[in-house]
Amino acid sequence: MNRQATGKGMVEWDGALWLSDPEDRFGFRANWKVNRILYRETSAFQEVAVVETDGFGKALVLDGIVQTTERDAFIYNEMITHIPLATHPHPEQVCLIGGGDCGAAGEAVKYPSVERVDMVEIDPKVVEVSLTHLPEISGGDPNPRIRFHYEDGAAFVERQESQYDVIAVDSSDPVGPAAVLFEKPFYRAVHRALKEDGMMVCQSESPVFHPDVMKRVHDSLRELFPFVRTYLATVPTYPGGIWSFTLASKQVDPMASVVGERLQDRDTRYVNRDVLEGCFKLPVYVKKLLDLK
Ligand code: SAM
Repeated sequence: MNRQATGKGMVEWDGALWLSDPEDRFGFRANWKVNRILYRETSAFQEVAVVETDGFGKALVLDGIVQTTERDAFIYNEMITHIPLATHPHPEQVCLIGGGDCGAAGEAVKYPSVERVDMVEIDPKVVEVSLTHLPEISGGDPNPRIRFHYEDGAAFVERQESQYDVIAVDSSDPVGPAAVLFEKPFYRAVHRALKEDGMMVCQSESPVFHPDVMKRVHDSLRELFPFVRTYLATVPTYPGGIWSFTLASKQVDPMASVVGERLQDRDTRYVNRDVLEGCFKLPVYVKKLLDLK
């Protein structure tokens, strides 16, 4: 066996190129067989790459970590946008933090009531590369209701007050520039930036591989919001497949206010009324972790 490093996360293995998770957790790491590297450059923040995998289509890779793939991007992008947008009473002003692949922004503008999506991405290179090399996920030509802001999401949110109906935090893992997006001062700023009936959602990692992160996010948000609901989806690309999102709401309990008819004609591949209602039903080990009855 010949394992030889050929770039961040890339190894040659028996004559083929593989993208291998840079770190394993609990002795587990995922590997993707790569046919071609379509783009690779280091930005001011991270190494940004697009690769053509053997079976998952094209993938966006940041610092050697697969962020999203053509095969399953729709699951994550729909879950982080449609769940809040189909449960908020009347979403008009939306803010997306991170989400440089532009897939979530594309889902948000499927709602006619959404007048504006402020997309706050720290790294313009991720947006540029996704629009150019990943139109299958980004949608290519951005909708005019999406406004791009290139800065740290925490600094942006700090300047807003009672501005947004929905804030979705589509961040990378809590390391490097994204670490701040998992901290209490950021959540306090998000709470201030939301209107009185606003809600926020964030990706909160895996209940199996990152239970500490998931629990911390949940407990921090419970100190600020009356309704905090964790929900799950299966995203094959992420370690272990099972992925969590945490929704925090100022007035409306998302479990009691499923406005399922809004999903009709939304052109979704994953979220429907059944998923919307069922995603909040948690298994025993997750309820135990979050101290829920
Ligand atoms: N949906 C995928 C996932 O969960 O892995 C992709 C997430 S998206 C690519 C994450 C984005 O967050 C990256 O483009 C990264 O540059 C951006 N990001 C990280 N820290 C940030 C910050 N502090 N402010 C704004 N954007 C940030």
